[in-house]
Amino acid sequence: MKIPHSHPRYESLIRREKLADGVERGLVHITGLIAHGRGEAFDYLIGETTIPPALEAEKAAVAALMLAKNPVISVNGNTAVLAGEEVIEFAKEINAKIEVNIFHRTEERLRKLVNYMKSLGAERIYGLEANAKIPGLDQPRSICSYEGIYSADVILVPLEDGDRCEALVKMGKIVIAIDLNPLSRTARTATITIVDDVTRAFRNMITIAKELKSMSREELEEVLKKFDNKENLNRVLNYICKRLKSIYKSSLEDSHPSGKR
Ligand code: ATP
Ligand code: MG
Repeated sequence: MKIPHSHPRYESLIRREKLADGVERGLVHITGLIAHGRGEAFDYLIGETTIPPALEAEKAAVAALMLAKNPVISVNGNTAVLAGEEVIEFAKEINAKIEVNIFHRTEERLRKLVNYMKSLGAERIYGLEANAKIPGLDQPRSICSYEGIYSADVILVPLEDGDRCEALVKMGKIVIAIDLNPLSRTARTATITIVDDVTRAFRNMITIAKELKSMSREELEEVLKKFDNKENLNRVLNYICKRLKSIYKSSLEDSHPSGKR
């Protein structure tokens, strides 16, 4: 379908088209559409833009990844079709590995996703080795690569599942989640939660990585030390509440312009 640039919801419609196309090509699992819908609902609440606490979480995330010995970015179907190019560019910027890891796991979809990421320019994509298992996690996302996710000290997991997030934290890893829902188990369990859309988050982190390159290790550690995930999530909730209250107030004024009710 051709979507006109002038459409007020152009960006959002393009994302939907990309996901629908991804389902047809066997890259995105059909349930990925539902997950995206949940994300969209929260994006509406924050105003479909990167809000200040998200930007701070993105900065802390980049610092953690730059300090890491073995940083890994985990990619699923939705992430690949919505932000595949950005993931590759960001991974190059911070010297991170990329691993395909999916919940609805079939060898065929895994292979398709690896090839898709390579077609976008990635040199090496982990995931097909399937030579390790995340302990205490009884689902297909536990199967991973030893050189990638298993041995990562810092792992970036966009659109993560709550169970795996918890299992990765239990392994002692720094887990960075990108999740538009500040109330999800993932958001509550991760070490750093970025409440932003996945494409916007990667674009911002590419810019931030370029900026932080001039920082020393001590300065990066300071950025990380200053970040408090609980406090950051509270700021996100406060932002949403304030925004909704102000929309409510102006809508009251619109319906009662004289101030009388
Ligand atoms: P949890 O298992 O952590 O409680 P969940 O079961 O609600 O979360 P999942 O289906 O496991 O959700 O994962 C999808 C998550 O990804 C949702 O929380 C949703 O808000 C988020 N999400 C979906 N699309 C995007 C997007 N484009 N950008 C950022 N986050 C997104
Ligand atoms: Mg879940």
